[in-house]
Amino acid sequence: MGIVLLGPPGSGKGTQGTRLADALGIRHLSTGDMLRAEAAAGTDLGRQVTPYLESGELVPDDLLLAVVRHALDEAGAAGGYVLDGLPRTAAQVGHLPADDLAIYLELPDDVARARLMARGEGRADDDPEIIDRRLAVYHAQTAPVLDVYRRRGRLATVDGNQPPDAVAAAIGAAVAGADDR
Ligand code: AMP
Repeated sequence: MGIVLLGPPGSGKGTQGTRLADALGIRHLSTGDMLRAEAAAGTDLGRQVTPYLESGELVPDDLLLAVVRHALDEAGAAGGYVLDGLPRTAAQVGHLPADDLAIYLELPDDVARARLMARGEGRADDDPEIIDRRLAVYHAQTAPVLDVYRRRGRLATVDGNQPPDAVAAAIGAAVAGADDR
């Protein structure tokens, strides 16, 4: 089973992705986490992705795939994944199986921005200007991904502007109701 979580930065993809993967007994993969780990490890690849992470721009596909491809294939072979952070462009959808289910965590920009400011995890990309850039990149490059899954009949929309337990319940219902078995 492949599930992709879509939604703006701050919409709860990380929190909900972990919970959902635990509930389903499949892996949670966060491309942002994998990229940050690669950067922190200081490998050649890590050094190449760092400027993108710091500026809030998307990492080019060849570098992204070099970092995440192996874990993605492994999780797919092991029974599935909840993917958080991929696909981020319509082109990236093509790297994933056509029957994946997308869950869209809908959240207004002002709420997303407030959450990201409050989060203060010490990430290189959590200052106000970069947060605005990440939201702009989301609208320009990632929002079109929603249409791809919608056209396939594989998009479920969940209100992300609720307490985490309510969001988790809505996601659970969406997964249970999806005709993917
Ligand atoms: P996130 O933790 O999902 O907010 O991602 C943090 C940063 O990692 C993004 O701002 C991008 O620079 C990079 N990133 C994560 N996933 C992708 C992706 N699928 N394609 C390109 N860049 C990505």
